Amino acid sequence: DEGLSKTKENVFAKITRAVAGKSKVDDEVLDELENVLVTSDVGVDTTLKIIKRIEERVARDKYVSTSELTGILRQEIASLLIENGSADGESFDIPADQKPYVIMVVGVNGVGKTTTIGKLANRFRQAGKSVVLGAADTFRAAAVEQLEIWSERVGVPIVKQQMGSDPASVAYDTVSSAVANGADVVIIDTAGRLHNKINLMNELTKIKRVMQKVIPDAPHEVLLVLDGSTGQNAFEQARQFTAATEVNALAVTKLDGTAKGGVVIGISDQFKIPVKYIGLGEGIDDLQVFRKKEFVDSLFG
Ligand code: GDP
Repeated sequence: DEGLSKTKENVFAKITRAVAGKSKVDDEVLDELENVLVTSDVGVDTTLKIIKRIEERVARDKYVSTSELTGILRQEIASLLIENGSADGESFDIPADQKPYVIMVVGVNGVGKTTTIGKLANRFRQAGKSVVLGAADTFRAAAVEQLEIWSERVGVPIVKQQMGSDPASVAYDTVSSAVANGADVVIIDTAGRLHNKINLMNELTKIKRVMQKVIPDAPHEVLLVLDGSTGQNAFEQARQFTAATEVNALAVTKLDGTAKGGVVIGISDQFKIPVKYIGLGEGIDDLQVFRKKEFVDSLFG
């Protein structure tokens, strides 16, 4: 895969380099491996968990060759990843019994939230679904403008109000409009200011409460968008947003331009939230449903 190949070269090449000239997995190899995983942004906790499991394997089997190491590592990484592809394997499908299916998108500014919403809207449109966008980031004029550009580009309606209006009111209007028009999917953008945890929590809670007046079990999906190239920042953002609201899906963007695909592994493990989508570029088609096997293959070639 074009986009993910950068990740592959780096992680796999680093491991290969780390074990070059060695035949046996020993403490030195494990130290090198630990270093590779940490510098690939897997995160310290998840790295130590992986190393510990390999140590246990080495202790049990007495001798593990370095040529077996990548196979073992593949298995360990796969066991930590949580995918969330639709049951029938169809990409970009949504549950048929939830109409409209409401997605509330959260994340800090700059991570690719608007772009991900645009790409998603396009995929749903291609799958024959009707989509409504809600511009509930009423704090930044640019956010609404960007979302409008995507709405025109994809050909889906957008619900907005003036700058500074109540985000919950925009969310209410959006779901009401979707119900009135029999739309299949609602995607609501929210403000990405991480100024203060309490404010963030209050704002997201209010948006949810108000949309539940129209659709009692909305939002069906709270999608946190994280920039896969930001390493520890992505972990910190996941910590803050999961504390503020019930995030149940992740989109990890910018995996095209980074050697840091390890974020996907660490976040999946630390927060136990499935990675649903990955962003692999700025273009409208550069969004994929996350598939564990493909991802692990891309790390190891
Ligand atoms: P927002 O502030 O979170 O809404 O971020 P935007 O959607 O405006 O995206 C910020 C920048 O990241 C823009 O230049 C996007 O084109 C770029 N971007 C978004 N997703 C991706 C991705 O998957 N790969 C790359 N390379 N760039 C991306």
